[in-house]
Amino acid sequence: MTDKPKTVIIGTDGVPFEMIEHFAQTGVMPNTARLIADGTFAKMQSSIPEVSSVAWSSMITGANPAEHGIFGFIELHPNSYRMRFPNYNDVKAPTFWDKRDGKSVIINVPSTYPVRPMNGVLISGFVSIDINKSVYPPDLVPTLQSFDYRLDVDARKAHQSMDLFLEDVEATLQGRIKAYRYLWDYCDWNTFMLVFTGTDRLLHFLWSAYEDKNHAHHAAFVDHFRKIDEVVGEIAGKLTDDDLLIMHSDHGFERLDHEVFVNYLLAENGFLQFKQDTDPALENICPDTKAFALDPARIYLNLKGKYPAGNVNPAGAETILDEIEDLFTEFQIDGRKVIRDVYRKADIYTGPYIESAPDLILVANAGFNLKGKIGADALYSKGIFTGKHTQDTAFLLIKGPHNPEKLPNPPKVSDIPAIFM
Ligand SMILES: [Zn+2]
Repeated sequence: MTDKPKTVIIGTDGVPFEMIEHFAQTGVMPNTARLIADGTFAKMQSSIPEVSSVAWSSMITGANPAEHGIFGFIELHPNSYRMRFPNYNDVKAPTFWDKRDGKSVIINVPSTYPVRPMNGVLISGFVSIDINKSVYPPDLVPTLQSFDYRLDVDARKAHQSMDLFLEDVEATLQGRIKAYRYLWDYCDWNTFMLVFTGTDRLLHFLWSAYEDKNHAHHAAFVDHFRKIDEVVGEIAGKLTDDDLLIMHSDHGFERLDHEVFVNYLLAENGFLQFKQDTDPALENICPDTKAFALDPARIYLNLKGKYPAGNVNPAGAETILDEIEDLFTEFQIDGRKVIRDVYRKADIYTGPYIESAPDLILVANAGFNLKGKIGADALYSKGIFTGKHTQDTAFLLIKGPHNPEKLPNPPKVSDIPAIFM
């Protein structure tokens, strides 16, 4: 290992600012507490929408969705209503490791599957399917398998039993830690990035266990964060004062009160219609349809020329957008306004791929989780999840040489590469 200053990034998927602050203050995360005392600690804005694929693509490229091309987990094939899942090949802006001098080791960053050759090591994160397409250089695969390395937590287990799920979260964490320890000395790197994503899975299923000290899984929940803090302490102990350590999340989390189905409200108000006697699917929408939503709350006008059953003329687009904006601005459940902000694409995105952006993007108020599901049987419901993402409560913690004055206030996920580039 050379003596050149190093950059280390520890990502914790979904962990909110307030939770890190709480665990630092209450002794669960003493190593993180020391970094907070010696460094810069700030609340950070996630991407819009605040889903992992968009947030991580923004973080690793330093770009906004109209520059990197990732607007959500789902896209439509051109001139069709058929869905597809964008992956790393769809990320159109270069990542910081593509631009930076020297070798990088990058472990478990979401939206980096399938991996491609780079200067160092890349192990892709969520959604990685085949281990043989998830590891560069590929000859590392047998070593990772000997660590029982898992690409992701098996969330299906939570539907069987929370105990099984927690075992899987723990095994996934241990495999990740073994991989980081092995790769730390594997090559002479300048940048090392390690992302924990079990946190996001825990927060979705067991936010209730975080809030309730008497919950059967409260201790296991807290213990997961204690273990991450031990890794933070171990890594901080390997660095000098000249090295830079960044810890952050991609979005925050909070209690989930209601899953809210955006397409249900569009259909109820006549903007979205399905052909009679067909399954509710985008392929079966009537030509009268004015707009539809893709997960989580990206609304697209059914534009003539853009879609097979498109019927909205560009000249009439503004009027329809105004009507939909009014509908969602006024929308209430139990006397509470559901929507915090309605954005037009030009309000929040700028770049060469803006034509692919949704026409309207909704961000919800506290407690409401917006969903783009087609064919929901009610306007809102409550499923197995007890936690949901937040847009404005991610966190950023920086220890080492940096200029806090150069950071925007509040910082955004896409500002992170500028800290060390
Ligand atoms: Zn996430």
